[in-house]
Amino acid sequence: MNTSPNSTPERSASENSTSLLPEDFQFSQGSLQDFDDCPRRFLLRHIEGRPYPAPEAEPIRENERRKERGVRFHELLCQEHSGVPREAVRRQASGDEKLEVWWDQYVHREPVGETNRTYAEISLEGEVAGYPLIATYDLIAERPGGTFEIFDWKTARYKPDRGQLASRLQTKVYPYLLAQAGAGLTGGEPPRPEQIKMTYWFAEHPDNPETFEYSDYNAEVDEEDLQDQVGKILARTERAHFEKTEDRTHCKFCTYRSHCGRGAQAGNIDDGETYLEETGSTQADLDDVEEIEF
Ligand code: SF4
Repeated sequence: MNTSPNSTPERSASENSTSLLPEDFQFSQGSLQDFDDCPRRFLLRHIEGRPYPAPEAEPIRENERRKERGVRFHELLCQEHSGVPREAVRRQASGDEKLEVWWDQYVHREPVGETNRTYAEISLEGEVAGYPLIATYDLIAERPGGTFEIFDWKTARYKPDRGQLASRLQTKVYPYLLAQAGAGLTGGEPPRPEQIKMTYWFAEHPDNPETFEYSDYNAEVDEEDLQDQVGKILARTERAHFEKTEDRTHCKFCTYRSHCGRGAQAGNIDDGETYLEETGSTQADLDDVEEIEF
């Protein structure tokens, strides 16, 4: 399911004529997070579309295995909320001990609880500064009483602390966009910010989800922040304006290390906190497998 706003505000002529952004550029929490972490990464990935020249983390095969398992877990939960019988979903996890444990923990906890309706893998499109702003949600649950809870499944071993999560662009963009562009879910006006909350559920830490309530105040602050962020991107009218980050911890697991002269050796995935924080920021968009690892 994909819902879009009825209209998109016009961009100013100066923005269109000087920005390096392609005319059809779409912002996502992933691209905004990339800019926040490193403007050069935003340029390389989202404007120039450069291929990823280096492995993201070592050991490479183990990293790939973890990503694939994360993707499979998301697929299982999508089926769960699309009406596939649980026995059939469980059978698909068999043969992968870790995946079975994650699924069993999910079923045992029932983190989603009572709902009127659920929307799995739903995409919404709104706008920021005249550009489309898009997101694909793992799950949006409509509660009795007309409130909405966004769920995001996380499969990484490391659980970020609440402060880290609060500062992620995902925590801002998801509820903001639902309040802006969620009319398709209500059949009328989009949900009000006070009707929205967002929960991260961690397969490796099933008893410690993190929930963030939303509000008019949050929505106002987020709108200001997002407009400001896009304004900074639009103000960079030359390639050289997209500077490399001074915080080299962002480079450790970045696929552009060799391109930037920031080291040839990838960081190790067992360097938990740094790796997981970084892979959360390297997503191109929500369909990107790297998102799964954060
Ligand atoms: S290697 Fe470092 S400087 Fe280069 S794009 Fe990645 S984070 Fe930015």
